[in-house]
Amino acid sequence: MGSSRVPFLTAKLQGFGTTIFAEMSALAIRTGAVNLGQGFPDTDGPTEVLEAAKTAIDTGFNQYPPGPGMPVLRQAIAEHQLRFWGLAYDPDTEILVTTGCTEAIAAVLLGLCDTGDEVLVLEPTYDSYQACISLAGATPKFVTLRPPAYELDLDAVRAAITPKTRLMLINSPHNPTGKVLTTTELQGLADLAIEHDLLVATDEVYEHLVFDGLEHVSLASMPGMRERTLVMSSGGKSFNTTGWKVGWICAPAPLVTAARTAKQFLTYVSSGPFQPAIAAGLRLPDEYFEELAADLQIKRDRICAGLTEAGFAVYRPSGTYFVTVDIRPIRPDGDGLAFCRELPERCGVVGIPNVVFYENKAEGRHMVRFAFCKRHEVIDDAVARLKGLSR
Ligand code: GLN
Repeated sequence: MGSSRVPFLTAKLQGFGTTIFAEMSALAIRTGAVNLGQGFPDTDGPTEVLEAAKTAIDTGFNQYPPGPGMPVLRQAIAEHQLRFWGLAYDPDTEILVTTGCTEAIAAVLLGLCDTGDEVLVLEPTYDSYQACISLAGATPKFVTLRPPAYELDLDAVRAAITPKTRLMLINSPHNPTGKVLTTTELQGLADLAIEHDLLVATDEVYEHLVFDGLEHVSLASMPGMRERTLVMSSGGKSFNTTGWKVGWICAPAPLVTAARTAKQFLTYVSSGPFQPAIAAGLRLPDEYFEELAADLQIKRDRICAGLTEAGFAVYRPSGTYFVTVDIRPIRPDGDGLAFCRELPERCGVVGIPNVVFYENKAEGRHMVRFAFCKRHEVIDDAVARLKGLSR
């Protein structure tokens, strides 16, 4: 994220620079540091899913899939939404396969927001939201989640709604904070969306990564919400296949049609042989998803304990595979961006400075995010390196 003017770049994209994920992963490769920055698992997903992709390649699924996505995947998405979140969608008219959730977000914003519309987002805000809101000619309105608990201030949501508000873009479990919205918070959002007749888009990519016996609840499942909500997710986080970029949108047909109109001119289609493979993943038994969360909860506990011992103030996440720390006990000036840029040289670890997810920079300046979707020995190694900082 650079603030200097980039030549040739449109006004809409000035300020968006290079994503922090590209910068920090390149830094990790250059320095050989342990990469706890960009969120990607360092182990492969379930064999059934990997084998299904190989079979699909071997049996000729290598050309353009149908525009809305392969029927086997749309059917599996419909079954998954019903099995886990009690939401019924028609695979023929109410489901659209996208190039990861990132394209789903882009398609929703470009297909449903006009110039001058306002989009309500939670801050810290995942970086692609702001870029796509800007590409759509719309304006973001931020509602800040604050540590330690990152409670949603419903009065702040109400205050952020104006006659121009078109859409609420909600992410739970939330990146980078790991916050899982409570049913009370979701009900509050639902009440406001209904009262003001707003569209809602939900980024639910961490839907299966929820800890401590908490349950993910889709905002679309609250009364009065299904008809106004576009549920967006992907297979990357659930099946350790972030490079496959298979995502989806589930919504009433007119909303899907609007998003699809934009989507068809972005990538048209993608991920041919990976579509049936993600369908196989979505049909795995409940135990698979339970074990995925249980394993990550152990890693969450391991990294939180280690980061605390290393001297950080740790905000324990309830979901996702990210943990945020306040660096000020270790670096009193609280400059998270400088800290992250220096960290590989100082101790061989890469993290993400949360400040890039904030419009109100002071709120997130001193926060740093570490990804813990890594093998135990990698977490231990990173923690040992970070402990060297305070010595
Ligand atoms: N969603 C991933 C993260 O937050 C990164 C995705 C990306 O590289 N754009 O770390």
